[in-house]
Amino acid sequence: GLLQDGQALPTVFARMSARALEHDALNLGQGFPDDAPPDAVAEAAIAAIRQGRNQYPPGPGDAVLREAIAAHQAQWYGLQWDPASEVLVTTGATEALAATVLALVEPGDEVITLEPFYDQYAAIIALAGGVHRTVPLTSSTDPDTGDLVLDVSAGALREAFSERTRLVLVNTPHNPTGRMLSPEVLAAIVEEAERHDALIATDEVYEHLTFGAPHRPIAALPGAQDRTISISSAGKTFSVTGWKIGWVTASPELVTAITGAKQWLTYSSGAPFQPAVAAGLALPASAFEELAADLRGRRDLLTDGLREIGFRVSLADAGYFTVADAGPLGEPDADALAERLPTEAGVVAIPLSAFYRDGRAGEASAYLRLAFCKSRETIERALEQLDAWA
Ligand code: PMP
Ligand code: GLN
Repeated sequence: GLLQDGQALPTVFARMSARALEHDALNLGQGFPDDAPPDAVAEAAIAAIRQGRNQYPPGPGDAVLREAIAAHQAQWYGLQWDPASEVLVTTGATEALAATVLALVEPGDEVITLEPFYDQYAAIIALAGGVHRTVPLTSSTDPDTGDLVLDVSAGALREAFSERTRLVLVNTPHNPTGRMLSPEVLAAIVEEAERHDALIATDEVYEHLTFGAPHRPIAALPGAQDRTISISSAGKTFSVTGWKIGWVTASPELVTAITGAKQWLTYSSGAPFQPAVAAGLALPASAFEELAADLRGRRDLLTDGLREIGFRVSLADAGYFTVADAGPLGEPDADALAERLPTEAGVVAIPLSAFYRDGRAGEASAYLRLAFCKSRETIERALEQLDAWA
């Protein structure tokens, strides 16, 4: 069911952003930043438009951008990719994910994701006719935070694999939890994928927004590169979520298959934005670190403020979001709470159930996801309003 009563069903992000507009509420729901892109990136896009780079670029991507993507992977992670055969530019990570699953998953093949998962994953697995298996993140033993983590010793990862497993779709740093998968968990995923001869797709769109330990791509683990499709995007790294430039790096065979799907989805992706993203990827490390440091301050502002109000809050390692348990405030049902908050507190948040199959969030039923990629002023006002409401 992509339609309901003849209408396209809006995603939870579209629906909650509409409610923010309708009630003039502060939008800590949908993950888009208030930040401007780096000047050099914005200027490069404007220059490209003025230079006439406004018609279809090459389907697999502008050569300048493919080279910049390969150079970035080499510089940050020591991964070597051939820009001509192992890099594909896509219309956001969204298209990279869709083209990957559509190209590689046949009806009846099993695809494993963590749960909670980014909402698109269930939809694209269904579009491909795949069978979605999940590995639950469960509460850590730290009662102060209620962190959701993957406990590899629990055996759930191993049990999710079968002889029908085609693909394991990983996401680190993780949306919605804001946590990074540990090296131990990543190694366990590679080991199981090898054992079942499954492919790994990894969604790393928050790779540069880390607040402590740096991001470790799963493709850099021993033995992983050949079976791994790495996916990222310019949206978060350069605060340009509306540009929709993403990319895939993988072996030539996998890139060829994914290009086959991509060409029928969009054929090519935003011409003037491609040289601009190439300019961004070539910026010095300090340019990447500045945004992460600034976001880290806003993570702390939101986390501390929510804790003072009485939520039980996880401390995000990375990304745009934090997860807050409203249970201690006497609110056991985050779905109902998220519906009321826009009018009662003038704040929009996303219930964690949006990231679970059939909305069944189990032990996370009282959890909200709140975005801290907004201005300090917006976060401060949201905290004041939530404090007055609580
Ligand atoms: N994956 C994850 C985990 C995301 O949070 C998002 C949304 N920002 C995307 C993919 C989509 O990325 P893009 O906007 O580049 O299509
Ligand atoms: N990735 C963004 C989020 O998680 C939303 C993107 C979208 O609206 N599809 O909030």
